[in-house]
Amino acid sequence: MSSKAKPAYVGIGSNLREPVEQIAAAVRHLDAVEDVSVTACSSLYRSAPMGPVEQADFINAAVALRTSLSALELLRTMQAIEATMGRVRTGEHWGPRVIDLDLLVYADERIKDAELIVPHPGIALRNFVLLPLREIAPELLIPGLGRVTDIAVDEKEPRIVRVDLQGEFL
Ligand code: AMP
Repeated sequence: MSSKAKPAYVGIGSNLREPVEQIAAAVRHLDAVEDVSVTACSSLYRSAPMGPVEQADFINAAVALRTSLSALELLRTMQAIEATMGRVRTGEHWGPRVIDLDLLVYADERIKDAELIVPHPGIALRNFVLLPLREIAPELLIPGLGRVTDIAVDEKEPRIVRVDLQGEFL
């Protein structure tokens, strides 16, 4: 990894085919990318699904990494991992998914284009994004949002519980 590597944070979610295994596999895939080094991984968080579709609970986690890829290159790498892991994009926004990787934060960059919005809007809107990130990076300053630990948890969202992990992720 070059000395120009930048810090980034990725949110991971799954509610299909043994979600805990899917998340562990996604972390391994990310860390296996030559230009990516995973530096921290949160606990797993279980939450009831949102939206109209009847489906299993979601498991979410967040990882910290360092990368020499640009934000867009990292996004494309994440999408390639999703495809490798068998995610089929049905266009159903709230539907079940074997793996979902979101680029939450990329260094101090603010990006808003058709393909990529960073920081990810879900950070301030969804507890299942905020809570894992807060566990691994409470002091992180998010461009335009402030310190992670100062972002309010939405008390009206479905309950989210931290899942005790057995074994190591990485
Ligand atoms: P989803 O179905 O939730 O995985 O959304 C995927 C779409 O969101 C893709 O078309 C991405 O180009 C777009 N997108 C925009 N910003 C981000 C981001 N920060 N992380 C991941 N996907 C993003």
